[in-house]
Amino acid sequence: MENKSSGMASIPLVGRFAPSPTGPLHFGSMVAALGSCLSVRTRGGRWLLRIEDVDAPRSVPGAADAILRTLDAYGFAWDGEVVWQTRRTAAYQLAFERLEAAGMLFGCACTRREMADSALARDGTRRYPGTCRAGLAPGREARAWRLRVPAGLIRFDDGVQGVIEEDVAADVGDFVLRRADGLFAYQLAVVVDDAEAGVTEVLRGADLLDSTARQIVLQGLLGYPTPAYVHLPVATNGAGEKLSKQTLARSVDGQDPARVLMDALDFLGQAPPAGLVESGLDAVWQWAMANWSLARVPRRRFAPMPAYG
Ligand code: GLU
Repeated sequence: MENKSSGMASIPLVGRFAPSPTGPLHFGSMVAALGSCLSVRTRGGRWLLRIEDVDAPRSVPGAADAILRTLDAYGFAWDGEVVWQTRRTAAYQLAFERLEAAGMLFGCACTRREMADSALARDGTRRYPGTCRAGLAPGREARAWRLRVPAGLIRFDDGVQGVIEEDVAADVGDFVLRRADGLFAYQLAVVVDDAEAGVTEVLRGADLLDSTARQIVLQGLLGYPTPAYVHLPVATNGAGEKLSKQTLARSVDGQDPARVLMDALDFLGQAPPAGLVESGLDAVWQWAMANWSLARVPRRRFAPMPAYG
């Protein structure tokens, strides 16, 4: 279970799949599950599973169990216990308090409506204009807590997308770590969880590429190592839209698992031999473990999904 490629003291290689239980798995999440698993397991690493239910109001009852059942039906086996973010509030609270003690947080009274005119960040969220950074205006109360984002360019070399640079302070501004409803934000939860689990490689869909610089800022402030990042192309439907419940993505529900895994491998540029599907699920996994190559993954942010069914 060691990464021997560095030549330095070997660090155990750890990857993870971290679905949000907002609905059944769709083809795009299956691609991320498969890619993250193969990338570490083919190098003797461990592969973890975390249910990202930190945004409890968006969780759909029963979705997490359905995801676990589907992964099982597709032949995925994760290492250790499943981690549930809703059981990890104390860990997020500790990280939050460390940032607060370091003077890195401030309370913000701004409502969504008050920020409606500010510029859009790359991911479509509103850039925070800094209204409450120097203190709340008289009579205003803090609703959310924001990170005082340090100035400077964040740069990382993504395993598929290449070198990415983002000036988080300029593009996003001070982002929320504790929301107005009291919940910790995804950005904080994911950074704390990955660090505590010893994750060395974050492989996920390119829809999260614009979150990565924010997460690297947090890792720096909390003294955590930055993992390697790999952002796979996001599967789109025929109209070029990202697969989601809104675009009525077909869910992958455990039916015909060998065919769906073949399609996921195909989507990832691995070119499995067509006849392999007839040999069944185990044979597809064996082929994938023996032939996986990150270099074959298309260097794109979006790619149409193959038709399957
Ligand atoms: N929970 C996120 C999703 O399902 C993934 C977050 C991550 O992999 O960092 O889209």
